[in-house]
Amino acid sequence: MALPSHVRYVIVGAGIHGLSTAWNLAENLRKSGKGGGQDILVIDKTSIAAGASGIACGVVRNNYFQPAMRRLMAHSVSVWESDPEAFSYHPVGYMQISPEVMHKDVASIYEQQQEIGYPSTFVEGEKDCMTYMRGLFSDWQAKGVTSVLHEKKGGYANNTASMYGLAKKAEAEGVRIVTGVKVTGFDKDASGAVTAVVTDRGKIGCEHVVIGTGPWVKQVWDMLGLPAAISIKGADGKVHDDVPMWTFWSLQEGTLGVDPMLQRTNDGAMPPVIHVDTDAPLYSDVDGSLITDKLWGIYYKPDFHFGGVQGGAMPFKVKTPPAQVKIDPYGPESPDFIVGDDFAHMWVSALAFCQKRFEGTMPKYKKEPSGGIGSFTADSFPVFDRFCENVYVVADSNHGYKMIGVGKLVADDLCGAGDELLRPFRFSRFAEGKLHPTSNSPFPWS
Ligand SMILES: Cc1cc2nc3c(=O)[nH]c(=O)nc-3n(C[C@H](O)[C@H](O)[C@H](O)COP(=O)(O)OP(=O)(O)OC[C@H]3O[C@@H](n4cnc5c(N)ncnc54)[C@H](O)[C@@H]3O)c2cc1C
Repeated sequence: MALPSHVRYVIVGAGIHGLSTAWNLAENLRKSGKGGGQDILVIDKTSIAAGASGIACGVVRNNYFQPAMRRLMAHSVSVWESDPEAFSYHPVGYMQISPEVMHKDVASIYEQQQEIGYPSTFVEGEKDCMTYMRGLFSDWQAKGVTSVLHEKKGGYANNTASMYGLAKKAEAEGVRIVTGVKVTGFDKDASGAVTAVVTDRGKIGCEHVVIGTGPWVKQVWDMLGLPAAISIKGADGKVHDDVPMWTFWSLQEGTLGVDPMLQRTNDGAMPPVIHVDTDAPLYSDVDGSLITDKLWGIYYKPDFHFGGVQGGAMPFKVKTPPAQVKIDPYGPESPDFIVGDDFAHMWVSALAFCQKRFEGTMPKYKKEPSGGIGSFTADSFPVFDRFCENVYVVADSNHGYKMIGVGKLVADDLCGAGDELLRPFRFSRFAEGKLHPTSNSPFPWS
């Protein structure tokens, strides 16, 4: 498809945020009589779902310690529920299973879920947790668990299928999606607003730009001339200078090549997504050696799309300076950021730690490249804000496959309606010290 020389809105990135923003913006413009999908062009350097959205595990949950994140997720869950078929969404629920060190944090998540009407059950005490879990899986055996938060909503969706579902909705509104177009820079006017997006296939004049480039956000951020390091006012009131705006974490995920039906519940149903954190020592299911005696965590779900029981463990921070991190080739094609034997050993041993049915299954681990990197902001929470007057950056800090609803909020914001749910994620929070609370979870995204 030929590129237009001018369009009102250019959206960069055909992942969850670019596509959901395009779909909702087109709908808003049409309904308000101010235009429509013909005013929107989505461009992507590779293809639909070529980034993190296309390799995500696909877990959709509300379990967040930060009130603003929880409200945002509850909104997104309602969007997933609005068309499960188109989004390939499986509303099986989600369980956060935790040790004593996280008990208080998770109890407060439960209380606040009740306040916002998000349905969940909270079980406390080692014995009651074991009884509750054995009511679901008779072979449950995880130790060091003193609370279980069972979210009745949420679950998971199939990564690429949901991206194509979103693209179809956007195209039905008249949005054009052109792939194989790489953004290389921006033309700006004297006031600093972007007048054209510069690509390897020519310039596209525009009035507004939306950036949804996931792990590549730093590259585009640099092209816009935004700061590589920022000052942050901490909880102690002190200002910390020179904090890198972007860091990278490597996500550790893989698949056990068993029949997904192996993970059915006692009554034969497909189970909730399981997330277990514990400080009980983890021993190898292969040779009995100690893998770790520190706090650790895993998540897993049966998934026909991945062909087995799929999930992951704690990510690790990429030590290479952010400017030198090689993002391409991305995901399973990366020579640097795919999981190795250590991950498989730990994760399968952890599955066996949780449920007897996984004991001795190490040989079934799929030895195919998996995992990928994510781009995190200076405080590991999203930034949804306007820069350079007319550039809307949707940077989810790798929280975001589940955030299918953010596109609607961004579209409302672009159309002038603003949105309360996005306000806690403005860039100004760093300078103002309006940071989100952090939890005791071993994951940087809880
Ligand atoms: C292994 C892994 C598992 C994950 N699991 C989950 C999960 O279970 N649940 C969850 O909620 N989140 C999960 N995440 C996080 C989630 O996938 C991301 O936060 C989210 O998908 C980011 O969406 P996006 O639309 O911002 O970016 P992406 O989906 O990465 O899309 C960005 C697009 O921008 C394009 N692009 C980049 N630069 C340019 C350029 N210069 N010009 C043109 N196009 C460009 C890319 O080709 C890409 O298609 C996971 C992430 C990883 C890596």
